[in-house]
Amino acid sequence: MGQGHPECPERLDAIEDRLLITGLGDALERREATAAALADLELAHDRLHLAALRGLSDNLRDDMLAGGPSHAMVDPDTSLNEHTWDAALMAAGAAIDATDAVMAGELENAFCAVRPPGHHAMRNRAMGFCFFNNVAVAAKYALARHGLRRVAVIDFDVHHGNGTEDIVAGDERILMCSFFQHPFYPEGGARSDAPNLVNLPVPAYTRGMDVRELVEMMWLPRLEAHRPQMIFVSAGFDAHREDDLGQMGLVEQDYAWLTQRIKDVARRHAKGRIVSCLEGGYNLSALARSVEAHLRVLAEV
Ligand SMILES: [Zn+2]
Repeated sequence: MGQGHPECPERLDAIEDRLLITGLGDALERREATAAALADLELAHDRLHLAALRGLSDNLRDDMLAGGPSHAMVDPDTSLNEHTWDAALMAAGAAIDATDAVMAGELENAFCAVRPPGHHAMRNRAMGFCFFNNVAVAAKYALARHGLRRVAVIDFDVHHGNGTEDIVAGDERILMCSFFQHPFYPEGGARSDAPNLVNLPVPAYTRGMDVRELVEMMWLPRLEAHRPQMIFVSAGFDAHREDDLGQMGLVEQDYAWLTQRIKDVARRHAKGRIVSCLEGGYNLSALARSVEAHLRVLAEV
């Protein structure tokens, strides 16, 4: 994204370091992602969106060879460099590969430590640090390629998953549950007309205890009724108290609690099948500790 941008490579380094220091990394099975196929991306995105991004990326490389700038802006917060196209394909590919592995029974659940994130990417638009909607692609992929009839998408990032909503709204096979700080970036989202969306706007400074109550009252009954055969998680950790990109008050224990509730639903209805993908989380220390809490519950270690 360029110098000084919060969506930086050090985010993944911080997670890696934490896995190393705590020894948690030794308890996990690690896999490398492969690039997503364009045909699979088209399950969630317009062909035109993919072509436009591809064109932008190719032009950037040509311009760079001619001595031009190293970044191309997509929106005021979002730019791509010469590696972005490949990285975005790998991020979506990770979610797809994880879906295949979980569906094959090789893994009960998986966490994809990916950049760029995905939940702001709309069907035909890149924005908010996101290019392809990794979670929406994987959810659509599970329905289309594995023949599932019902899945759930859970988004606990501090920002509204407007891209995911854009892609899944009205698709009754997908139940989307989220909470997000509101009013906040991006605009919109407080009204969720489609019946398959349980999107809960909450004010700044909302604490974990209040979030837990909302989840128990609003998410869990809908998830129970939907009986998802697989659960996809937009795992953003920027609702953490120490994260300055949001103003919410969650802490590591809240992420552990959320993960356990998701896991309980998955165990009851989905043979435990969960694919979780990193979204936001910009305070490096809080991000690493929160991911650890999330993974300890997923992996039961
Ligand atoms: Zn976010």
